[in-house]
Amino acid sequence: MKRLKDKVALITGGAAGIGLETARLFLSEGARVTLVDLHDDDLSDAARDLGSPDGLLTIAADVSSVEDCKRYVAQTLETFGRIDVFFNNAGIEGKVAPLADQKIEDFDRVMAVNVRGAFLGLQHVLPVMTGQKCGSVINMSSIAGLKGSPNVAPYITSKHAVVGLTRAAAIEVARHNVRVNSVHPSPVNTRMMRSLEEGFNPGRGDEVKQQLAETIPLGRYGESLDIANLVLFLASDDSAFITGAQYPVDGGMAAG
Ligand code: NAD
Repeated sequence: MKRLKDKVALITGGAAGIGLETARLFLSEGARVTLVDLHDDDLSDAARDLGSPDGLLTIAADVSSVEDCKRYVAQTLETFGRIDVFFNNAGIEGKVAPLADQKIEDFDRVMAVNVRGAFLGLQHVLPVMTGQKCGSVINMSSIAGLKGSPNVAPYITSKHAVVGLTRAAAIEVARHNVRVNSVHPSPVNTRMMRSLEEGFNPGRGDEVKQQLAETIPLGRYGESLDIANLVLFLASDDSAFITGAQYPVDGGMAAG
């Protein structure tokens, strides 16, 4: 039995990395899927990568824009008629620098995408789900939403904010049978992590990667599929009694 049969899933930041891998898994589990990302070219590449299946819609939009957010929700409803799963995943890493040296424009951009974007998505998707009397939202936080680390204060701040957003939303909509949870990966092999590795030590990203992997109890980075498997569980009815929860998927990193 396919776990997302007859469900419609909306994934932001869906053209690459964890979002793209989750789309692949969702499609294989019977969902129809909308991918939202910044650029049409990247979305076309992603659709090709997924085999251009029926039941895939791509929308170019910036999650931090109110107008774009209204549009990606409206177009999903026009095409598929409902939204059962919302993977609120789009995010950026910001710059690597001590807090005192961070530029306020960079802080604002990280907050705009990671917090305002996630908030706007909830504002427009939750009314659809409460109207349906069912739905599951998975907010993308990070290990950086559970503990601190040096030189990425804007990112850490934004990912802690996603925890507050998750708890606030979960309590508001629970009586409508809508669930809201967050996921908290440790480093995952994606473009974003590559950029952070280079930011920590320019030209020596591979060494940074090895050092970081050694801090993870299971001894390796996550792969996008490791995260997608948890997102699938939270998206499906297997997690019907779980809401307002924070899920590490981190090789044991949060435990230490
Ligand atoms: P990625 O860079 O591979 O993918 C992120 C996608 O989001 C990209 O396709 C990008 O174009 C899109 N995006 C960025 N800004 C956007 C915007 N304003 N509107 C729409 N789309 C936008 O990175 P990833 O590692 O797959 O990251 C996905 C999420 O996972 C992020 O929220 C990130 O913070 C989180 N995360 C990643 C890691 C990791 O180690 N890679 C760990 C913990 C959490």
